Amino acid sequence: MSVWDDVVGQPDAVAVLERAATDPAAMTHAWLLTGPPGSGRSVAARAFAAALQCTGPEGDAPGAPRRPSGGGCGRCRACTTTLAGTHPDLTVVATDKVVITIDEVRDLITTASRTPSTGRFRVIVVEDADRMAERTTNVLLKAIEEPPPHTVWVLCAPSAQDVLPTIRSRCRGVVLRVPPAGDVADLLVRRDGVEPDVALAAARAAQSHVGLARRLARDPDARRRRDATLDVARRIRGVGDAVLAAGELVDVAKAEAVAAAAERDAVERAELMRGLGVQEGDTLPPRLRSQVKQLEDDQKRRATRHQRDVLDRAMVDLLSLYRDVLVVQLGAEVELVNTQHAAAVRTLAADSTPEQTVRRMDAIGTARERLEGNVAPLLALEAMTVALRPQG
Ligand SMILES: [Zn+2]
Repeated sequence: MSVWDDVVGQPDAVAVLERAATDPAAMTHAWLLTGPPGSGRSVAARAFAAALQCTGPEGDAPGAPRRPSGGGCGRCRACTTTLAGTHPDLTVVATDKVVITIDEVRDLITTASRTPSTGRFRVIVVEDADRMAERTTNVLLKAIEEPPPHTVWVLCAPSAQDVLPTIRSRCRGVVLRVPPAGDVADLLVRRDGVEPDVALAAARAAQSHVGLARRLARDPDARRRRDATLDVARRIRGVGDAVLAAGELVDVAKAEAVAAAAERDAVERAELMRGLGVQEGDTLPPRLRSQVKQLEDDQKRRATRHQRDVLDRAMVDLLSLYRDVLVVQLGAEVELVNTQHAAAVRTLAADSTPEQTVRRMDAIGTARERLEGNVAPLLALEAMTVALRPQG
């Protein structure tokens, strides 16, 4: 085993990172890992961090000297604690923030300037380096330009274009690709004990998004929600159905966003209250209200963003269905994404022309753009579902 086991379908990226971890001549102190959502950026970043800290099992002996890297054996303490996120010389700025603030970046820079306590390096992973205002990025820039010799920055973003050119030019870029569905399925079988056929169907349906594939493979509710989304294509017969379907899609996204947020919001609130020294059930002193309000506003923004992400995902799912329809209509020799909806795909293919399918895919694309541009979700989706109805 090694720390790279869970970095699926990325042999080129792994080769570069592994070499950097073991060969000082190939090492540099600022990295930019890019790849589409679900390609495993943060998994790759942690694996790299572990490989950098790895001492090999020999390093665990009491009084053992700091050793050159074991390359990410996956067994030593440095490896396991880094992968678990508890290594004292690893800092991870995780992904669920809407924006990374300038204060957070200043704290990171302070952390980055300290010598590592036990590890070979101090590693700072920023999972969404694209979620920074320009002013914040400029603060970071200085730190990346002249890092202390034992500090390594690992920035992650969807693409190199998502970070400022000034940052990009100072980092070595590593590009992750969309992993093959078979590799994602293997991971689900190996690590999560999923049945091979379920794993492969989930990996295809998720279009190799590792996290989504895992959720589809393990959570029947997630599968049902996805099926309901795809069913929209079959159900819409007229404008009335279309409007109803748009409303349902928005409601499902809202419900999912609320479900995802509820637990985390409560934990954050409890932590804040503890930090402020307020007991459960006490009335909040007026001077503390603004801090609680701030947290509530952040949580509300995050919920809105998550709802949009869920909706966008639903549209990517629908798009994959029409992509399958087009595959059948053109007689192309490629696998369907939605193998479990093959019957519906064939019916839709028989009842429409390739031109109509392309127009429908365009309508879905337009709706995605409008959502991204902050058009009210219901408006964007109604225009889309109306365009999906059967055309005489
Ligand atoms: Zn190790």
